[in-house]
Amino acid sequence: MSNITSINLDIAIIGGGNAGITLASKLSAQKLPLKTLVFEPKTPQQRDCCWSLWATPDQCESLKPSMLGKWAQWRLIDDVSEVVLKSDEYQYTSLSAASYLQHCEDSLEGTDSIKRSTVEQLAKEAGITSFKADGQKYTAKTVFDSRPPVTASNSLCQHFMGWEIRTKAPMTETDIATLMDFRVDQSKGLHFIYALPFSSNHLFLESTMISRTLEDKQWYRDAMHQWLQRHNIEIDVLLREEVGVIAMEEPPETSIPLGAIGAASGAVRLSSGYAFSAIQTQMTRLANGISVGNYSVPKPTSGYLDAMDRVFNGVLLAKPDLAVDIFMRTGRALNGDQFARFMLGTAGIIEWAKVIFAMPKRVFIRQLWRQVVGHD
Ligand SMILES: Cc1cc2nc3c(=O)[nH]c(=O)nc-3n(C[C@H](O)[C@H](O)[C@H](O)COP(=O)(O)OP(=O)(O)OC[C@H]3O[C@@H](n4cnc5c(N)ncnc54)[C@H](O)[C@@H]3O)c2cc1C
Repeated sequence: MSNITSINLDIAIIGGGNAGITLASKLSAQKLPLKTLVFEPKTPQQRDCCWSLWATPDQCESLKPSMLGKWAQWRLIDDVSEVVLKSDEYQYTSLSAASYLQHCEDSLEGTDSIKRSTVEQLAKEAGITSFKADGQKYTAKTVFDSRPPVTASNSLCQHFMGWEIRTKAPMTETDIATLMDFRVDQSKGLHFIYALPFSSNHLFLESTMISRTLEDKQWYRDAMHQWLQRHNIEIDVLLREEVGVIAMEEPPETSIPLGAIGAASGAVRLSSGYAFSAIQTQMTRLANGISVGNYSVPKPTSGYLDAMDRVFNGVLLAKPDLAVDIFMRTGRALNGDQFARFMLGTAGIIEWAKVIFAMPKRVFIRQLWRQVVGHD
């Protein structure tokens, strides 16, 4: 690729999703003398969905412009019991992805900070990366790449369909988020309904599966209809439908590009599919590093956490009939603050000990053994 008509950049960010645009926004705020450009083909509106996290009061404040709702209590429900968890430290917080992405895009300074285009023909030579976008040649000293990771077609994944709806009549319980309601069809794999009441007549609900096989769209729709019927909730307006597939297995090491950030770098929590908070932390640390000349991408999750999550997923695969019980036991073992830290991947030894002691021991020890020695 000739250099003559190239635009030369200090930093090229491929993909302006959670990771890419957050990094760009943080770098822009630091006003570093670096020419940075984000390459993202889709508008924020085209990528709208709900992103949720356990947020501290400071995070709640900074995420306020994109917030759809927040709850100090949340619950898990199975056929026989309900676990309600309350927190003083964390609010379960739900964001509009479109609004968050737009807010970050608007914070970028200069007209050229985002290019609405895909990146193609990426090549590296003598420490400089070159590529094409929208017919234009670019070179960049550093590339951060957030293009979604490649995953095997039969990998364990969390797959879901969500609806944002206006209800005909006001709902009564709006101060609690339902993280997992397992009282749904479990015949195809681990399945639960996730329900977030943003207000008395504004609800987000999702039919979520953890399995290796995706279902027809109608299957998730039927599950949501049944759940709504059971709760006597009638849809007035279906505002938005979203679908998602999040791999719960790591992509092969060889498929991770140099300078990978966000989900591409392994930020998705293998046991839960949550990634928003880990990506925010990774991007804050990366931007701080860049400001002092350190361009290396921090690891988004610890090796210990990944290993524990692999054992957890191994048990889900080996003993799917125990899955609901395992999630309910995790909820019962912890208080709200501890549960939030556990889900955020910041749990300490006490929280881990509580969870481990609450688990059916034999099956976990067997799985651990299997993973250590490679067989039973
Ligand atoms: C529907 C959905 C809901 C989720 N909900 C939650 C949640 O509630 N909580 C949570 O913690 N996690 C959630 N996740 C997981 C995770 O937080 C998100 O996937 C998050 O968006 C990952 O951020 P990212 O920047 O790594 O990837 P993305 O946000 O996917 O960004 C990658 C970007 O790269 C762009 N791109 C692709 N190819 C090219 C190319 N060739 N050139 C340039 N750009 C390209 C894409 O358009 C995309 O915008 C959810 C995931 C999905 C799919």
